[in-house]
Amino acid sequence: MTESTQKTNLLGMSPTKLEAYFEEIGEKKFRATQVLKWIHQHGASDFDEMTNISKALRTKLQQVAEIREPEVILEKVSKDGTKKWVIRTESGSSVEAVLIPDGDRKTLCVSSQVGCSLDCSFCSTGKQGFNSNLTAAEIIGQLRIAIRSYGEYNTTSQRVVSNVVMMGMGEPLMNFDNVVDAMTLMMEDNAYCLSKRRVTLSTAGVVPAIDKLKEVTDVSLAVSLHAPNDDLRDILVPINKRYPIKELVAACNRYLESLNDKRVITVEYTMIDGVNDKPGHAKELLKILRQMPSKLNIIPFNPFPNSGYKRPAEERILAFKEIIVHGGIVTTVRRTRGDEIDAACGQLVGQVADKTRRSQKYIPVVQQEPN
Ligand code: SAH
Repeated sequence: MTESTQKTNLLGMSPTKLEAYFEEIGEKKFRATQVLKWIHQHGASDFDEMTNISKALRTKLQQVAEIREPEVILEKVSKDGTKKWVIRTESGSSVEAVLIPDGDRKTLCVSSQVGCSLDCSFCSTGKQGFNSNLTAAEIIGQLRIAIRSYGEYNTTSQRVVSNVVMMGMGEPLMNFDNVVDAMTLMMEDNAYCLSKRRVTLSTAGVVPAIDKLKEVTDVSLAVSLHAPNDDLRDILVPINKRYPIKELVAACNRYLESLNDKRVITVEYTMIDGVNDKPGHAKELLKILRQMPSKLNIIPFNPFPNSGYKRPAEERILAFKEIIVHGGIVTTVRRTRGDEIDAACGQLVGQVADKTRRSQKYIPVVQQEPN
């Protein structure tokens, strides 16, 4: 074991955990706040940069602790400005993070797991099987890496990342504690200070975890519905067999009630040719959308090798959208960004050493990153 792996990594610690750590090593709690600011607002990786901390404490911290970011093994920039990073994880696999610029807005799409255990039929990450959860440091590290890519590290005056969505690889609610710690840092005043409206967790619908979530955070919630009835959703999003649509909608309403503000659920609907894109589906979907304060985000299916699915023609997508909009629900169609660098939704693959053996069923689908 190398020396660095024995040190405590402070990068992913929530403010409360960092305070507890400082008490544990016999230091005052307020030191934790100072260190938190250095790590997240100044991008410090070395305790020696922390000039308002005594030399003695810096030396002590150097001996027992570290600020270790995951390693970037590849960075790609697409013509439309989308950036993608391939990041090596402690488990030896890799995951991807994507930054999507759109006018003033820059949205970072963050991964939460190496692979995914949920096996949604149209998602390339799902087809790679599952390897491991990312640590909180690996999750928040994706944000630090994105900020630093714009030159001088600055989280306050010139906000280079304005929004974060947990929509990369993995199911965030299946890595609950680490995701919550990382999201807490994103919204923390002494760290990234992002508004709760600009930090969104997207889930395939792990109902008990949605209920748990409202006890510990107030991030915005997106739900991957993709089908307007249980028969179809059982096939596209198999976790539906455990938590069917009715239960999911009820959990969403409980979540919104706990927020006690005007936010709505973003319902995501990956539209697949001939599968869930008929006018009848739109009418059925409308009934579900009316059961909770919601808006709809249609994601035209992004193809990947051997998926067996196709993206519908533009007119079909627009006709579907029209039905929903006429029904009074705000609807957007997600533009495909970064597709020439394989950075679009559902195209993030990283490299997953699959522990579930699911990927063996789909061997041709597992892509290697080009060097
Ligand atoms: N597991 C979480 C977050 C990750 S996926 C979730 O399910 O919400 C982010 C979004 O991209 C999800 O809505 C997912 O269903 C969608 N997606 C996955 N594969 C896709 C593909 N090939 N084309 C378009 N959207 C896809």
